Amino acid sequence: LTLTRADCEALDRADPLRLFRDRFVLPPGTIYLDGNSLGAMPIAARTRVAEVMEQWGTDLISGWNVHSWIDLHERVGAKIGRLIGAGEGETIAGDSTSINLFKALAAALQLNPKRRVVLSERDNFPTDLYMAEGLIRHLGQGHELRLAAPDEMADAITDDVAVVMLTHVNYRTGRMYEMDAITATAHAKGALMLWDLAHSAGAVPVDLSRAGADFAIGCGYKFLNGGPGAPAFLYAARRHHAAMQPVLSGWFGHCAPFAFEPSYRPADGIAKMAVGTPPIISLTALEAGVDLMLEASIDDLRGKSLKQAEVFAALIAQEASSFGFHAASPGDPAQRGSQLCYEHENGWPIMRALIARKVIGDFRSPGILRFGFTPLYLGFTELWDAVAILRDIMTTRSWDKPEHHARARVT
Ligand SMILES: *Cc1c(COP(=O)(O)O)cnc(C)c1O
Repeated sequence: LTLTRADCEALDRADPLRLFRDRFVLPPGTIYLDGNSLGAMPIAARTRVAEVMEQWGTDLISGWNVHSWIDLHERVGAKIGRLIGAGEGETIAGDSTSINLFKALAAALQLNPKRRVVLSERDNFPTDLYMAEGLIRHLGQGHELRLAAPDEMADAITDDVAVVMLTHVNYRTGRMYEMDAITATAHAKGALMLWDLAHSAGAVPVDLSRAGADFAIGCGYKFLNGGPGAPAFLYAARRHHAAMQPVLSGWFGHCAPFAFEPSYRPADGIAKMAVGTPPIISLTALEAGVDLMLEASIDDLRGKSLKQAEVFAALIAQEASSFGFHAASPGDPAQRGSQLCYEHENGWPIMRALIARKVIGDFRSPGILRFGFTPLYLGFTELWDAVAILRDIMTTRSWDKPEHHARARVT
């Protein structure tokens, strides 16, 4: 059975999410398969940021009160919480994913003080491992970062593990853990569970409450379309709020920041995990992205994402099977996030050649071509066109031009 361009056009016509595309700024002629790295720009982000700039210019410092800038990180956090199955008052926005990992891991270790092992995955996104290393070094209490492979994870959760720290959807392969099962195993062994949702929030259905997760963090600039370097988020289950102690005890986590007391007293609830003055302009852009996500149904998003992956894989098999691409993502859609990866010995120049033809995916060392599916603004016909361009690049060997072999700093 062959898939035609007309089939893809029919899928686009039947797509319940198709109108969301008009709510984004997208350069004409570009096929964007990298919204998992930096999401596209919502039109509303531009207008809302312009409004905040206006407020800043007009109202100066009174903006903190009259425009409620002062609790914007809590309001945006609450909205993100709705996308990840958090309860009321369990999520705040702010800081970077790396910083939030540090904060959440420190809090979790302090809540499980008799144990000394942080268990994670060898192929986790490196900053998560680096931050854990730095925290362990800083604590100086003999903690150990133990790394296991995904297939061995459940068995690796032994009864000396303090915290299991995993990224739900792997950034390279798209492989997705069974959140409920792993969390239950961690709890059965007396460990706390910390999930990184960088490639999950806004991409796949997540229900932290149902899973019983202890802590979670995630990224604002990927599927949430919050803009380059957007604030990240942090979730802590309510049952930990009273006992958890912020390692970064900044004045925005103080119970009375404007009392200017000489000593730290934590705020109640998730508010204590804030650190310093929230970035109002960036939070405003992030809110525009999150609002769009809340308007769409996550089940529609997931349905379309799975269909897009199915169509893309079928097109690669149909059009490019003789060119040496090896699928590097799990075959079972239930075990995948919203991306597909292929291994190829010439992965780097092939991706550069694709980008030169305005098909934007990305390359992850050593030889992975990564294609992300962002159902809010990506169509099926674009998938057809992307694979047709890939086929042309392979057939003509245009990927082998010297300019495509040069390395860039950001890949
Ligand atoms: C993208 C990503 C990050 C990014 O961290 P920053 O602090 O925003 O640079 C961290 N962890 C994972 C798993 C990611 O995918």
